[in-house]
Amino acid sequence: MAGNPRSTPEAPPVMVRVAAKLNLALGVGPLGEDGYHRLATVFEAVGIYDQISVSARSDDRIRVTVEGPQAEMVPQDHTNLACRAAELMRERWAGPHLGADIQISKSIPVAGGMAGGSADAAGTLLACSVLWDLDTGPDDLQQLAADLGSDVPFALVGGVALGRGRGEHLVPVISRGTHHWVFATSERGLSTPTVYRRFDELGGAGGDWVPTALIAALTSGDVETVSHCLGNDLQDAALDLRPDLSAVLRTGVEAGALAGLVSGSGPTVAFLVGEEAAGRTVAKALVELDQVDDVRVVRGPVPGAQLLPGTLQARM
Ligand code: ATP
Repeated sequence: MAGNPRSTPEAPPVMVRVAAKLNLALGVGPLGEDGYHRLATVFEAVGIYDQISVSARSDDRIRVTVEGPQAEMVPQDHTNLACRAAELMRERWAGPHLGADIQISKSIPVAGGMAGGSADAAGTLLACSVLWDLDTGPDDLQQLAADLGSDVPFALVGGVALGRGRGEHLVPVISRGTHHWVFATSERGLSTPTVYRRFDELGGAGGDWVPTALIAALTSGDVETVSHCLGNDLQDAALDLRPDLSAVLRTGVEAGALAGLVSGSGPTVAFLVGEEAAGRTVAKALVELDQVDDVRVVRGPVPGAQLLPGTLQARM
């Protein structure tokens, strides 16, 4: 609040890290009255992180800067989802006099089907609630997140969850053990609305059924069974728009992955491997491909938006 010494420009910034997501299953049903498809999806948060640093300003402006290899693909104005998150939080919970500088250090692939923008929005909600010393509980943050976008609520909580509706109605899923993932990223992003349009043009064959076999496999902790239950109704549409990704899928599986699938609306391709060593072999095969710009070997599930250690102590 105004006058609170922890909310002055001199106070140390609030630092948050927030993870990318993968859809282990993405069932796409019919279009709802709101113009969005009904979904049944199982999200997993994976160890690729954006870091967000938020500090107070002496005026009422909300500014955002982005750094990282793909920074030029991200808007640095009020259309940035992080900026919209801060503005919404200010409108509903703080006062119009409060400002903030938001710095995003981006590592989540941009327009990669890993919900990087949504992650930044979720991280900014958490950071601003601390920066401005607001009395927002988890349910309040979830409501703001759902108003910002379909993937934002999951980015707040992380772990593994079933998402219904547009993906914003979440139920936690018990998932035993660690998953080892290899992600092949492509700098040429795919626009999510374009992929959904192509999905409809191709006949929209899908359904928003709850993937019960996958949920049972996750609970059992049997990674091989999990690998048989992965699926993405948007994959054919993404491959239709980016046929070069078929070779990426083939290469990863031939190199030893248990399964591969397009992440969300793509173009990132995800591979589940049995163990970390197999991940390195798969990664080695994938980096050789022209259409792959970067390869990450990471684990999941991981938590959602989190304050960086020491942030609260530094602000005491
Ligand atoms: P979706 O969540 O729709 O599946 P995605 O994961 O494929 O999206 P994002 O990285 O979230 O892709 O970016 C989608 C678009 O949103 C970008 O092309 C960019 O113009 C815009 N955008 C707005 N804010 C951000 C942000 N903070 N980070 C990344 N992109 C952003």
